[in-house]
Amino acid sequence: MEQSICHNDHVYSYLIKPTSIEFLNQFKNFLPGQYIIIQVKVFDHWIERPYTISGWEEDKKALRVTIKKEPKGLFTSWLFEQAPKIFSINLSSPQGHFLLDMKNSTIGLCFAGGIGVTPFVAYAKALVENHLNKKIVIVYCANNREDLVFRREFDEFAREDPFIKLLYWQSDLKGFLTEKDIMLFVNMFAEPDIYICGHPGFQNLICQVLQNQHYRHDKIQIEQFTYAGSA
Ligand SMILES: Cc1cc2nc3c(=O)[nH]c(=O)nc-3n(C[C@H](O)[C@H](O)[C@H](O)COP(=O)(O)OP(=O)(O)OC[C@H]3O[C@@H](n4cnc5c(N)ncnc54)[C@H](O)[C@@H]3O)c2cc1C
Repeated sequence: MEQSICHNDHVYSYLIKPTSIEFLNQFKNFLPGQYIIIQVKVFDHWIERPYTISGWEEDKKALRVTIKKEPKGLFTSWLFEQAPKIFSINLSSPQGHFLLDMKNSTIGLCFAGGIGVTPFVAYAKALVENHLNKKIVIVYCANNREDLVFRREFDEFAREDPFIKLLYWQSDLKGFLTEKDIMLFVNMFAEPDIYICGHPGFQNLICQVLQNQHYRHDKIQIEQFTYAGSA
């Protein structure tokens, strides 16, 4: 695992380059929205943390993950403050079910809160690469402009694929999303499939609003970045 991009002082991207052919083959078949589990020895303890695949090299011989430093987080404090630039890890195969339905023509409305944007970066990249003409709208929320770390990459995707639309939301300028804002986005489209990923407060807010509106459960998908705790 190798540090590749410093987005700001608390969000970095890393490239993961598997060393065995077996892993390389598994990696090539991952689905956008899936995550891998990283196992690493920190202060004499083995710890495991899941991270969503946020990008990949053209030949898929290296995958990218993007990691936010958690205050007092065991793994991320070590990673940001003490880890060498390149180090070895154990790795699971890609897994998870937070997958964009690429085949149906219903619009996908994605609510991303902060680092919860990572699966949506993978959706957008896959749509651009595969020319699927699937319409998605990503509402990318963050505290401030500096925290919209994927803005430039998304703008590039949207330039290449007219079916991808981005709506940026900075809470330092507009405050947190309200029920009215959320329903405004939802009602812009005909019964969109809704995808939500962000911190628990962000997810709960959107879920509560949709529940109040009796939005169909089967049209909502949620990815929770639950914390494993310091173990
Ligand atoms: C499916 C999935 C995908 C994910 N994808 C990403 C991703 O793409 N990018 C990303 O950055 N993260 C992602 N995560 C989160 C990631 O796996 C880690 O949980 C995160 O990086 C924190 O790890 P850590 O070891 O630094 O923090 P931990 O040591 O696990 O602590 C996490 C937080 O909990 C607090 N905490 C720990 N113990 C306690 C306690 N006893 N009481 C109160 N608070 C406590 C810490 O202060 C810290 O803020 C994902 C999680 C899941 C489940």
